Amino acid sequence: MDTIGTTSQVTGNDVTVNGRTYRLPRQPTVVVCIDGSEPGYIERAFEAGRAPWFARVLTKGTSLLADCVMPSFTNPNNLSIVTGRPPAVHGISGNYFLDPESGKEVMMNDARFLRVETLFPAFQGAGCGIAVVTAKDKLRGLLGKGLALAPGKACSFSSEKSDKASLAENGIEDVNALVGLPVPDVYSAGLSEFVCAAGVKLMERDRPEIMYLSTTDYIQHKHAPGTPVANDFYAMMDGYLARLDAMGCTIVLTADHGMNAKFGADSQPDVIYLQDLFDGWVGKDKARVILPITDPYVVHHGALGSYAVVYCERPEEWAAKLKAMPGIEAALTKEEAAKRFELPADRLGDLVVVSTKHKVLGTSAARHDLSGLTEPLRSHGGISEQHVPLICNRALSAPANGRHWRNFDAFDLALNLVAS
Ligand SMILES: [Zn+2]
Repeated sequence: MDTIGTTSQVTGNDVTVNGRTYRLPRQPTVVVCIDGSEPGYIERAFEAGRAPWFARVLTKGTSLLADCVMPSFTNPNNLSIVTGRPPAVHGISGNYFLDPESGKEVMMNDARFLRVETLFPAFQGAGCGIAVVTAKDKLRGLLGKGLALAPGKACSFSSEKSDKASLAENGIEDVNALVGLPVPDVYSAGLSEFVCAAGVKLMERDRPEIMYLSTTDYIQHKHAPGTPVANDFYAMMDGYLARLDAMGCTIVLTADHGMNAKFGADSQPDVIYLQDLFDGWVGKDKARVILPITDPYVVHHGALGSYAVVYCERPEEWAAKLKAMPGIEAALTKEEAAKRFELPADRLGDLVVVSTKHKVLGTSAARHDLSGLTEPLRSHGGISEQHVPLICNRALSAPANGRHWRNFDAFDLALNLVAS
């Protein structure tokens, strides 16, 4: 792990957080994490004439390709974007993990798992208004950690629980009246539309200096780039983003991860069931496979992704065996994975397994309920879903000179690297 400052600091017009320095915003700055936005979604919507704002931004603003962090899942990447650092620093290594302290498998949603502060309390300390809006409530606790919530000054809420928002918990109330929309279904494009609509209404009413909007990948899990439903989704976003742009905001868009088709010629998910494999190799339940994609909302992916960790003895031996199998892109010991993917070694299993572009990893066939998969599986988690867009509605103020961009450079780009 790199040595970084653990405290934030405000110096003149600069804020330093987690060892990175940002200029204070000169106009409202909006970073949008479009969940599961594989490169191609925006371009296809633009080519179909459905996204005039994106068309303007891709030609006149900044359009880069970045790598997200591994595993290419939602929580690790959202936390990287808002801390500016990889999981080795912030500690969020999945949506779900085996907590070594309790020995229990738990969701990684609790703010106590976050090891550094996000940018938001630091910018609040420098006098900025802050607004954080997420689709699913699972991210809210992590993203809002450390914010002093107060009406008109800082709020943090989700579309999913918009009707429950209170001044004490969220720094805002009557969200549905403000946005003019009812609580959307948790499995719908409406959950993400609500995030965008709330962003526009909050910008009109409070004009926060820093806004973070995080959508959900329900549509991307079901619909490939360029398909009618995907184009509708990006057309929807285009309209709201154009309104934020018209209010003078600097807008950076990126994604937490990409998305790929993960099914075979029979349209069924193409799965390697790791727990079944290990049960055959070492005996029933002697090894323990954990799928960090797991979250409370698995209907659209059946908890099948391209990344798994395994608690087992003799990890080197199994790594060699797995690497020789078709469909396995990487099998790494904990130490190798921590180094290669900048992950917290104390929150990995003994072995990290990554499948190839069109394969997914499961535990046991009997433990996956795939009845909710109404479309052929699209999912993520692997190295093959690391490429994501990094887009800004303003042009770079200096050439990037071959820089290797990460999605967690989003605030650096918005605040330090584009013309205001
Ligand atoms: Zn995601």
